Amino acid sequence: MPDHIVEEVSELRRLIGFHNHQYHTLDDPKIPDVDFDSLLTRLELLEKEWALSTESSSSRDVGGPVSEKFSQIVHLLPMLSLDKIFHFDDFFSFEEGVKNRLLENCPSVYSCEPKIDGIAISLLYRNGDLVRAATRGNGVVGEDVTHNILTINSIPKKLKDFDKSAVLEVRGEIYLGKSDFALLNARKLANFQKTFVNPRNTAAGAIRQLDPGLTREIPLQFFCYGIGHTENISFTDSLTDVFTQLSEYGLPVNERQQICTGARQVIKYCEKLQRDRDSLDYEIDGVVLKLDDLALQNRLGVRAKSPRWAVAYKFPAEEKETTVLGVDFQVGRTGAITPVARLQPIFVGGATISNTTLHNMAEITRLGLCVGDKVLVRRAGDVIPKIVSVIEPARPELRKIISIPSSCPVCGADLQRSGEIMYRCSAGYLCKAQLKESIRHFSSRNALNVDGLGDKLISQLIDAGLVGDPADLFELDQSELIKLERMGEKSARNILLAIDKSRNTTLSRFLFALGIREVGETTAVSLANNFQNLDDLVGASRESLEEIEDVGPVVAANIVSFFSDLNNLKMVRKLEQLGVSVEHTNTPSRIKNSAFAGKVFVVTGSLMTMKREELKRKVLGLGAKFSGSVSKSTDYLVAGDGSGSKLAKAENLGVKVINEQKFIELISMSKSGES
Ligand SMILES: [Zn+2]
Repeated sequence: MPDHIVEEVSELRRLIGFHNHQYHTLDDPKIPDVDFDSLLTRLELLEKEWALSTESSSSRDVGGPVSEKFSQIVHLLPMLSLDKIFHFDDFFSFEEGVKNRLLENCPSVYSCEPKIDGIAISLLYRNGDLVRAATRGNGVVGEDVTHNILTINSIPKKLKDFDKSAVLEVRGEIYLGKSDFALLNARKLANFQKTFVNPRNTAAGAIRQLDPGLTREIPLQFFCYGIGHTENISFTDSLTDVFTQLSEYGLPVNERQQICTGARQVIKYCEKLQRDRDSLDYEIDGVVLKLDDLALQNRLGVRAKSPRWAVAYKFPAEEKETTVLGVDFQVGRTGAITPVARLQPIFVGGATISNTTLHNMAEITRLGLCVGDKVLVRRAGDVIPKIVSVIEPARPELRKIISIPSSCPVCGADLQRSGEIMYRCSAGYLCKAQLKESIRHFSSRNALNVDGLGDKLISQLIDAGLVGDPADLFELDQSELIKLERMGEKSARNILLAIDKSRNTTLSRFLFALGIREVGETTAVSLANNFQNLDDLVGASRESLEEIEDVGPVVAANIVSFFSDLNNLKMVRKLEQLGVSVEHTNTPSRIKNSAFAGKVFVVTGSLMTMKREELKRKVLGLGAKFSGSVSKSTDYLVAGDGSGSKLAKAENLGVKVINEQKFIELISMSKSGES
């Protein structure tokens, strides 16, 4: 396989992993959805073409994990997402699909409402009291944020005239109004504090605070968009009636919610809302269209991840003109050089933008971009913008060609061409930019987890010459640390304690921390399960590595090349000498005592929240066994969507059949019983 393919696949996987994490876990997406999709498409194409697909490839990752900060809540009914359409033509296809499925020419009456760019939330009311609030999470399991939701004034803690025995789950969107957002930022500016990026991120951050006092400082608001689980309560026959009822309970319903009959009215509604978009005090990014008739909704049902009776029309992305003032080159952890355009600040898609990534030199060539050019910038939703095209080149005497610097902008070392479109700084840890990113990765939560070692401190340590590679962290001492600016004795002691604590780690964390290209957490776990100790791994051949689950040719090549580098080997030895010790046990004692030890699980059908491989790992993690086929010795069949012959066989044999949600509950039960 050519080097440039290895390089490109490696880079694509890294990018996709990064953006998944930004989007799902950090609520801080960095690129528009369309760009993410094109990365994914490209990766899938290459993986197919070169037979590279491995189970752990990021091209299969969808959704994100639920943060460990909060306790988890299994939704009573999954919180689905909506299929999206971008053109009115697609609405006709949607409507046709509905009619074909219903086998009748039903009246097409739609409940239309603005698609609020906020945070989806589930509110559970018992006897009229708000008893629980959860984020959407991955749709099946969300985070318990009740303590924060109780601080939001527009969410009633008690419903009016609510039946004593009834249970009602209300779903809606939490948002921060545009005017409140502007006010908050004005106050921040006045106090010389960092401003918030946009209303949605601010709202997401506020809801996911551990301290409700911090949530209360942000004036969040709420609109409900529907209902989930209900007990002892019934609604009449249309969604519009549901909204009327919710409103009578005292829940805020969007004033723009409206009935439209037929495609023409629907399209008119969408166009009007798009015109009014800027005058609304909340951010919207489209229109949600739902069949109004509840009986028809029921007959249509749901797919694995979205209902068949609703669709979201997304407004076209916003585009604005601006001028490129210059291009900076940033250096990443592995030395990759990324050009970033500095822009004449513009307000687009709800935020002021002053720079944006150009990804690589090929992108600059594709755009035909020079410094000084007037460009079109597109920004969809709350993601960072993209330069779409050059609309007016600068006058020749002002126009400056953008070329890759001949040396690293941070350390001055030579740049090496790596693959077709990438350039790298060759200095490794001698380059401060790479050193900083490496130490940040090494000490991150899922690596060695050094608490309190933030960006600022890492920079200070590097600038003071106290660390030249990650291993140097373990040689720091109190007298050196307190010489740093704004470092008291107590903070210094805490940092040293945290570093000391990270000395005892697991083989998988250690491998992940080393920052071998493409070796993410999953791969690191696989490697740790297959090699009893580090020395065996260091000496492993490409062929033997490729036999391991999750390790394809690209990853195998990266591992071999990492351990053939003398500097890397020296660092690993140095870490060992400094007392970093790696625990090798593969079978923690809790597994032997698990209630599921020895039980046999089989899975069938497609799962909503996890890959089969992940389910398998979870099963093995319980100390249970995993089998490919149903037999008399099977204890549990986990049945997903579209289960077929295995399900029938299990039912015949009297094997216990559970759905995915039940499986997740079992796992969380077994975890809570751990201690
Ligand atoms: Zn450099």
